[in-house]
Amino acid sequence: MVKIVKRLFFLYLVGLTFLFGSNLRDQTEALVKKIPFASKTQNIQICHNLKNLYISSIVAEDKQNLKTVLKGLIQCSKRLSLDTKEYEQELYELSPKPKTSTKITSIAIQDSTLILTFNKNIQSKDIIFFELNDKNRYKDIYDIKANLPDTYKRLSLKGVDEIKIAQNRYEKTRLVLQNKTPIDSKSYIKANKLFIKIRYKAKPKQTYTPKPIIKTTKNSIFASSKTIVIDPGHGGKDPGAIGYKKYEEKDSVLKIAQYLKKELQKRGYRVYLTRYKDQFVSLHDRTSLANRKNADLFLSIHANAAPKKSYLSMKGVETFFLSPAKTDKAKAIAAKENASVITNMNAISKDTLLSFLNRTRIIQSNKLAIDIQSGILSSVRKKYDSVIDGGVREAPFWVLVGAQMPAILIEIGYITNPTEAQRLFNPFYQRVLAKGIANGIDNYFIKNQ
Ligand SMILES: [Zn+2]
Repeated sequence: MVKIVKRLFFLYLVGLTFLFGSNLRDQTEALVKKIPFASKTQNIQICHNLKNLYISSIVAEDKQNLKTVLKGLIQCSKRLSLDTKEYEQELYELSPKPKTSTKITSIAIQDSTLILTFNKNIQSKDIIFFELNDKNRYKDIYDIKANLPDTYKRLSLKGVDEIKIAQNRYEKTRLVLQNKTPIDSKSYIKANKLFIKIRYKAKPKQTYTPKPIIKTTKNSIFASSKTIVIDPGHGGKDPGAIGYKKYEEKDSVLKIAQYLKKELQKRGYRVYLTRYKDQFVSLHDRTSLANRKNADLFLSIHANAAPKKSYLSMKGVETFFLSPAKTDKAKAIAAKENASVITNMNAISKDTLLSFLNRTRIIQSNKLAIDIQSGILSSVRKKYDSVIDGGVREAPFWVLVGAQMPAILIEIGYITNPTEAQRLFNPFYQRVLAKGIANGIDNYFIKNQ
């Protein structure tokens, strides 16, 4: 019975479009009110629409509405004899309850290392590192998710002009190391201790002032613990889209993936490609590599193609995350990218797709897509101001179905458009694009540790 309902539910997921218009809270309230009087079919639809509102509430950071949505989801799922455990758990987690806060209990200095001790074990996600450098003033900043019960006025460390530490708000303490010359600080965590090591370089006795080195990489504290799988689309017997001057999608996306790999490795990430050369790889093998490597992110890179009559007009960068397609255009693009898998489509059951539509993963994928899309645009537009923002969209790409981590698919441009096709094969543009994607990934991790 549950299976039949699930199947029905799946059909509705794919078939339904959702009416937008009034605001989030009104929409939610109106839907929840209908549940007790709705037929089974109507309740399936209500459940589906509530799932969309769930994502919208998270994106809008509307916790209050999220609670209403969850209550509604529990109600309509119960009426469909569907499992409500996950929703109940989440609702419980949303309600405020006392917890022990993280505290910095002491700060010590040993040789060239600052040692912060906490009342409990900390993780890399509790610390965000960034630099603020301008002429003659270099700052290494650590934002620490902890309270600072004591004041520390005189902290001094060789190689650093000034050290400031203060609590900004609840569980947010900022440590600033400031210097007239670039600071070389490295940090690591061991259980309940954060170590910040300064590499002190004695000033050279020279009369001229050395040029300040402006570090461009964010030296992400988290990068070394993150694994990213990049999937250059198509390959081997499957050329992907064939565009202007018979350029093939598989070649451009491989080059970009290779540049992206280099760029990410430079920033400290662990990176794997699903193919390193012109070779056919099944869709299943692409995501299973990501699952096997326990990847934190899965990025599939593709180039788009337009129908002949739109060769000149259709262009732009689009980033997709997996979800039932909302628009005809997204469905059409998904159908094209899915074509090479039609044969093993049966291997992916509808239940697998249904379970992929796990809320947390959709939301994370949506957030990742937003950061990557804006990373790409701000990078490429520095040199090519005409690049069009095709936006972040939802679509049912099969290549993303099997991934157990946030997964997105980037359509880097239209290979059928003469200008874009030439760029997609231009090594300079490929590098700028790769940098943009990497910036997007950095931003995603900074915000979603
Ligand atoms: Zn493709």
